Amino acid sequence: MSAALLLKSLSDLLFPRHCVACGQRLSVGEQHLCAACLLRLARVHADWTDTSRAEQWFACREVERVVGFAWFKHDSITARLIHRLKYGARPELGLWMVRMAAQELLPTGAFEGVEVLLPVPLSRKRHRQRGYNQAEKIALGIGMATGLPVCTDAVQRVVHAESQTRFGREQRMENAAHVFKLVDASQLEGRHVMLVDDVMTTGTTMDGMVEQLRGVPGIRITIFAWAWTTD
Ligand SMILES: [Zn+2]
Repeated sequence: MSAALLLKSLSDLLFPRHCVACGQRLSVGEQHLCAACLLRLARVHADWTDTSRAEQWFACREVERVVGFAWFKHDSITARLIHRLKYGARPELGLWMVRMAAQELLPTGAFEGVEVLLPVPLSRKRHRQRGYNQAEKIALGIGMATGLPVCTDAVQRVVHAESQTRFGREQRMENAAHVFKLVDASQLEGRHVMLVDDVMTTGTTMDGMVEQLRGVPGIRITIFAWAWTTD
């Protein structure tokens, strides 16, 4: 056994680490999830050269591809990972989640042609409360895995999103269109932009971003959310 491995085993013995999903103790080679939970994590599995989902969800020619990594269901492994990430203040968990996704997605063509990563912005108020933007962290992780630059100052969130569940889809889309504001189009002109978020539920947030960006000359858009909901 190497010295590093011995030290790691010793540290595991003294400070046991546990699986985020099932609570079982992790062995030396495991990080955040035990091998069984990692295997059980429901992947989206998609062929990213098939554009039908983009047509179905975002009926606009600027959106080329819609990419997801994991399915989000109530009380699923994905849900527990995201919950721990959001409320457990463990930034290294987020980086691990993104690296894992990027490693699995890279060979599938999910990032093909993408030139710049654009995280969905938080309102200033929310940013202050939380201290960081989840989507930005994910974009930075993808950037580390792919070498793509991250753009954080081209779009602003001007309205703090309230719960919109009481509105119908049309009303939600109408509201979402005014949530974001394009402040610097020059960084995005003629480029293939990947919009990045943690979870995509109704797609309304992304609709609002697309609505703001589709007028940028020559833009092409790929949408990425680490997790997709199943409904
Ligand atoms: Zn587990």
